[in-house]
Amino acid sequence: MPAELFAPENTLEDASEDTGFLTPVNVSSSLFFESPVEIFARVHREIRPRTPVPAIVVEFKQFANADSHVRLESGTVTVRITDLLEGAPAPVLESLAHILLGKLYRKPAARQYEHRYRLYLNRRDMRRRITLVRQTRGRKVHLGSQGSVHNLEEVFEELNQKYFGGMMTRPGLGWSHVRSRTRLGHFDPCHQMIMISRIFDDPRAPRLALEYVMFHEMLHLHYPVDHSGARRCVHTPEFKAHEKQFPQFKEARALLKKMW
Ligand SMILES: [Zn+2]
Repeated sequence: MPAELFAPENTLEDASEDTGFLTPVNVSSSLFFESPVEIFARVHREIRPRTPVPAIVVEFKQFANADSHVRLESGTVTVRITDLLEGAPAPVLESLAHILLGKLYRKPAARQYEHRYRLYLNRRDMRRRITLVRQTRGRKVHLGSQGSVHNLEEVFEELNQKYFGGMMTRPGLGWSHVRSRTRLGHFDPCHQMIMISRIFDDPRAPRLALEYVMFHEMLHLHYPVDHSGARRCVHTPEFKAHEKQFPQFKEARALLKKMW
């Protein structure tokens, strides 16, 4: 199998949102006596009953986030799991096996597994550990706040005065390396950092569009993410209502659509 199997489709990212409902699941007791390799082998038999189970290697790795990966190379399935899940309950590893092997063989896992896995990662203690791991192991790569056209600190402080009474503490601000058209901006709570896509650091880009994106990210600072159950709601109704108070809301959003 080619190396790109390591690519995103076989990577389980920790940030996806789940809208599932709690489904009661009967967890077989034999599960608790299996090693991680045995769990993955059993799930492999369930997903591909007609195929002999390949050699399976399970490693726990110190990633900078809660991602896990799977690849199939020269007949061996290698699973690399975030060390945050080392010692996780067997039913959680079983869910992860369904999700990762499902990605590998393009057979999406049943919702109950997705849900069980998300529920575990969304626990308060896990969220705290994930944040810590991101803070200590991750690093933010950006170009600083002074662009060639706009200075993000100036934009931030202007909006802070206008719409937040100057009360917002300035987080880290940076232009992204990549001129992303899909990710216009994002707020990273682990690093207290607002990152803006470099496409806005361009004389042709209307400042209103940049201001709107910054305003949106500032609202993320203002409204903490609501974690309830397996759901992760980022744009709460309060968030959306506040966002519409941006004076040229419609105009700004239209600009974003027209710009590219
Ligand atoms: Zn947002």
